[in-house]
Amino acid sequence: MKFGCLFTEYLQEERELLDEKCAHIEYVRLKKVLKSCQTCKPLHSSSSSSSPSLVSDLPNHQLCQCQSCPVCDQKFFSELMKEASDIVGFFGSRVKHLLDLHVASGMQRYVLRLRQCFKNDRQALAQEGRILIEYIAMNAIAMRKILKKYDKVHSSVNGKNFKSKMHTEHIELLHTPWLIELGAFYLNSSGRDCCELNGVYGHFKCDLNVSDAVMTLILPDSIKLEYNLTCAICLDLVFNPYALGCGHIFCKSCACSAASVMMFQGLKAASPESKCPICREDGVYPKKVRMLELGLLMKRRYQSVSWSHFISYVNIAITITRKFPRYNDYWKERLLSERNNMVKQSKEYWNMHNHNSLTL
Ligand SMILES: [Zn+2]
Ligand SMILES: [Zn+2]
Repeated sequence: MKFGCLFTEYLQEERELLDEKCAHIEYVRLKKVLKSCQTCKPLHSSSSSSSPSLVSDLPNHQLCQCQSCPVCDQKFFSELMKEASDIVGFFGSRVKHLLDLHVASGMQRYVLRLRQCFKNDRQALAQEGRILIEYIAMNAIAMRKILKKYDKVHSSVNGKNFKSKMHTEHIELLHTPWLIELGAFYLNSSGRDCCELNGVYGHFKCDLNVSDAVMTLILPDSIKLEYNLTCAICLDLVFNPYALGCGHIFCKSCACSAASVMMFQGLKAASPESKCPICREDGVYPKKVRMLELGLLMKRRYQSVSWSHFISYVNIAITITRKFPRYNDYWKERLLSERNNMVKQSKEYWNMHNHNSLTL
């Protein structure tokens, strides 16, 4: 089945499963825009009699070399940009809502579930997760295909450049930290290191490689996403992780110290000018996302390390044991060290505060 038909079919189903108004890539309409593009038409038609219709098959001198297409570009890229940011926004809020139900505990969970009229049992949550993962994947594939088509029709690299622009502006669909959270949610729900989903529109897989501290997500159309779960500051596994607006993930304590704020003040106290320690981008702190599911996954995975596991890993290689927790209570140690750090910081803070008020 052609992707256009598959996507149309998907959208019909999506309308029933998700909100009627949820954003999506207008694949079919944008394809029509490309088809009706006049700028490059003379070249296309002159060649159509002698050679195949694929622009990529034409010799270089017959290709349209225009840097931009005044007809397509105006509608095309601005529309795509808006759709992408709407999709990312919709996806983020829906995943957040889903995970709130999952990670909420005790009374909070009870109240949330009561509000949902007890509809959200475990299975329903997993089902909603599948719908959301399919939503972001299908739209990302549609985006990929339409940009490729654009470049093919215009034989340009504008589509490719647009993709990089989306990457720098962090509205690339698959770049959202909520996708990592959804992957972690699946692993947490299954209680395993690997889970597979046979969606209606393809195969999904989420895999946690403990020894390399890498989580991999495989989506249809051969999309493979890899997430390094090592904090670039402390070089240990991310603990109480937060993703900054640029997508880089750090332990909360590391992200706090990088922004020169105290742990008890939290990342919200960071100045908007604070830069990401990896990409040096500013304005990334206000857009932070607390990775609760990922934190839960790490805790569950590293707390449950049994001694026999440890023994069998010891003999493999030094690199593996370095990443792999040395003790059963590795997580407890991390928790303790975070707490001690917080107490120490607040003491220092109040001492300084008292000292300042005394000297005034
Ligand atoms: Zn760290
Ligand atoms: Zn960054």
